[in-house]
Amino acid sequence: MKTIAERLKIALDSIEQTAIFANRNASDISLLAVSKTKPVEDIRAAYDVGQRLFGENYVQEGVEKIAELADLTDIEWHYIGPLQSNKTKLVAEHFDWVQTIDREKIAKRLNEQRPAEKGPLNVCIQVNISGEASKSGIEPEAIPELANTISALPNLCLRGLMAIPAPESDPEKQKEVFASLQSLYQDLTNSYPTVDTLSMGMSGDMHQAIDNGSTMVRLGTAIFGARNYS
Ligand SMILES: *Cc1c(COP(=O)(O)O)cnc(C)c1O
Repeated sequence: MKTIAERLKIALDSIEQTAIFANRNASDISLLAVSKTKPVEDIRAAYDVGQRLFGENYVQEGVEKIAELADLTDIEWHYIGPLQSNKTKLVAEHFDWVQTIDREKIAKRLNEQRPAEKGPLNVCIQVNISGEASKSGIEPEAIPELANTISALPNLCLRGLMAIPAPESDPEKQKEVFASLQSLYQDLTNSYPTVDTLSMGMSGDMHQAIDNGSTMVRLGTAIFGARNYS
């Protein structure tokens, strides 16, 4: 079995190779290590070889890990799970990013609950790009209005879009989905100078995501191995 350090190196090399083939700079693509369900020792192992961006899906689990790893002060913690309004306070207080904003109410609560000394919370709008196949995220047509609301909230910083496209068996169809996300992202960058993040691509579809302009891939299994539950 490979170690986390070995798997991380393989993932980074793969991002670099894919970027080269796509005529992109590998430095424009960041790697979010998705550590949900994995113990803090695994996070430390990745940290020790240079990984700094970590993603968590469950509020309680994430907050506990952040507390246990408080000595690693330069970790950037991303909340990437579904967010209910009764959990926004914990997320606003402990995380650096929230990638799953899908309604105004959640954005406003995060804005109110963000402690001033932490600086603005970085946020991405989650887009439901696969229609009925996915329950989370907003319809593409609703992006401009939500982006406009977020941009007026002083304790939030709009960074971009995030999506979890449904797996497509047809590669052409998959490419279309990623390309439409890229175009929505381009539109957003034209309106908001703070927008610099297109979070798409996971262990199974990273290459196509990078081909289509992803600036952040979110890898769990590829780095930490299979999860017993998710
Ligand atoms: C679990 C998860 C990932 C990582 O998935 P893998 O297939 O293990 O790479 C990425 N993004 C989100 C939103 C997730 O919930």
